[in-house]
Amino acid sequence: MKRAARTAYVCQQCGHAAPRWLGQCPACESWGTLVEEAMPDARAASVAAPAPAQAPQALSAVTASETMRRSTGVGELDRVLGGGLVQGSIVLLGGDPGIGKSTLALQACGALAGQGLPVLYVAGEESPEQVRLRADRLGLGESGILIVPETTAETVVEHIDRVRPAAVVVDSIQTLRTTALASAPGSVGQVRESAALLVSRCKATSTACFLIGHVTKEGSLAGPRVLEHLVDTVLYFEGDGAHALRVLRAVKNRFGSTNEVGVFEMGERGLAEVANPSAAFLAERPEGAPGSAVLATLEGSRPVLVEIQALVSRSSLAMPRRTPIGLDLGRTALLLAILEKRCRVRLHDQDVFLNVAGGLRIDEPAADLAVIAAVASSARGKALPGDVVLWGEVGLTGEVRSVARADIRMREAARQGFKRCVLPAGNARGLDADPRTTIRGVGNVADLFEVLELA
Ligand SMILES: [Zn+2]
Repeated sequence: MKRAARTAYVCQQCGHAAPRWLGQCPACESWGTLVEEAMPDARAASVAAPAPAQAPQALSAVTASETMRRSTGVGELDRVLGGGLVQGSIVLLGGDPGIGKSTLALQACGALAGQGLPVLYVAGEESPEQVRLRADRLGLGESGILIVPETTAETVVEHIDRVRPAAVVVDSIQTLRTTALASAPGSVGQVRESAALLVSRCKATSTACFLIGHVTKEGSLAGPRVLEHLVDTVLYFEGDGAHALRVLRAVKNRFGSTNEVGVFEMGERGLAEVANPSAAFLAERPEGAPGSAVLATLEGSRPVLVEIQALVSRSSLAMPRRTPIGLDLGRTALLLAILEKRCRVRLHDQDVFLNVAGGLRIDEPAADLAVIAAVASSARGKALPGDVVLWGEVGLTGEVRSVARADIRMREAARQGFKRCVLPAGNARGLDADPRTTIRGVGNVADLFEVLELA
């Protein structure tokens, strides 16, 4: 007789197991940390461990072969994966709802099916009819993709065993549930246990697997990043719904670097790869408007030019607003304080809004110089010269610090037709200027104000 699986609620902080859910862990007193988990059967656990299948061998005797990779047919996706999809690898594709995760997965499926490979699409969110409509829009309606509407993890595993696909897409992991747990789909326990079941089956059958996961409001996948250690590769799809540009970023990659990003544009016929991201991000830049500065940033190993926009306006609030979109709030506050203290730009009674045009998120300090220039430009009501690109980190005393890869930033600026680069003095020394552009090193923010005639 098959017994019902035993489950317990286990504290994610200290490991305390309780028979039922509690708001607070009785052992470590943390709140909201108890998660339902399947308990191993006591009798099953006592069975002797199986005999080792393989004797240890000398490391030098192990032959390493390049992992089997397949092109997904989407160049920018291949690039972020580290050169293609590795057989039997598990890829978690995360992002806000509606950002285009299903579209990307479907496009990859279509290309793999086009190579004559069996591909299985597990639809938990949408009906097969809805997926068919989307596939038609993408021109993939007649591709050989197999689809099954399913939300039970055990059944999905059965389908994998029967179909033996080269790749499977689960859309989404939040809709899956395992019969081992009683909790609702989307809960931490369900997401983790269901994913674990799929991962072990896909590994055993060398099936590549895309798990689609929605990012919660707190910015994590299904709660506390429960899946990231289970999978080989974690990709985040970024961008905001209002813009067509999307950035695909690897935050973990067992089979490649996490330094690569892919840039896409969402259009009528799905996601198109963007060959020249700088041109795309600068496409709608206003000419001669105060508050706009062009930054040469690094997206992974690739230089990209983006526009930083600032709006400084008189505040009616006791605590003026500081609203950076796409930039770090703490870093922004620090730069505004430097502007006020070192450059005598009056900001304490002004609202300051900042935006990275195109919906990109930037977290490298090399953006500092462009942020300072954009804010000062808006505060002074004076546009920056249209042919200037900036980058550089700014320290607390207003000094401008060198950043990595000044050479490729400069070349990208030159390639996009910018005539002048304003960069840290430390970077300017020893940099072979590209003949198409001039470089001007600045040692501190006062130099910057002088160069840009903002003083
Ligand atoms: Zn605890």
